[in-house]
Amino acid sequence: MKTIGILGGMSAASTQIYYRELCRLTRESLGGLHSPELLIRSVDFDEIEKLQASSDWDTAAEILREKAVALERGGADLIIMATNTMHKVADKILGGVSIPFVHIADATATAILDRGFSRPGLMATAFTMEQSFYIDRLVAQGLSPMIPGAGDRAETHRIIYDELCRDVVRKESRLTYELIAERLVDRGCDCLILGCTEVGMLLNQDNVGVPVFDTTLVHCEAALQAALQ
Ligand code: GLU
Repeated sequence: MKTIGILGGMSAASTQIYYRELCRLTRESLGGLHSPELLIRSVDFDEIEKLQASSDWDTAAEILREKAVALERGGADLIIMATNTMHKVADKILGGVSIPFVHIADATATAILDRGFSRPGLMATAFTMEQSFYIDRLVAQGLSPMIPGAGDRAETHRIIYDELCRDVVRKESRLTYELIAERLVDRGCDCLILGCTEVGMLLNQDNVGVPVFDTTLVHCEAALQAALQ
């Protein structure tokens, strides 16, 4: 099995889910006492979040590029970045890295197309929902994504940074997310992308009325598949 390098800590709450899910998937796939070969480079999210908020994406990318290079030097055979948002600067982060990269949006688009859906709702950070780097990538794969209205986008973003990234799970916020998802379904989405690696802390197939694609889980599956090839 190849060693998966994880650029994590964005946030630490979801990197823990990556670790748990990769262990579960490896156990289910290989049986016995098998567990994944992993290297996790977890950063201090406080620093990254401040750079995001001040639109200093270049500095954030440079910090992550150094960690990606260190993962390769440390023995990783492939790299994943455990956040959707920072894929905005994936190309810069991967400068100087020669091992394969499993892109979270590509893995998600493939999973959606494989199951025959085409019009996903997208709940994510404002960066991911409102800027072109993610939506364009989905469109390029043949999908027609839909995003929530302005108020719902602001609330989705706020809950991610004020609560989920701090490992806070509130039932009021779960209800808010369920209602936002419902409004997307009413507008005609045929499935829902949990396009932020923490959104699965509040939404899953049990409380959403259309098929759910949790990017954290989809990404773990794609990374494990690549590691087992
Ligand atoms: N984990 C989140 C994501 O998937 C948000 C935190 C971040 O900005 O990296 O986009």
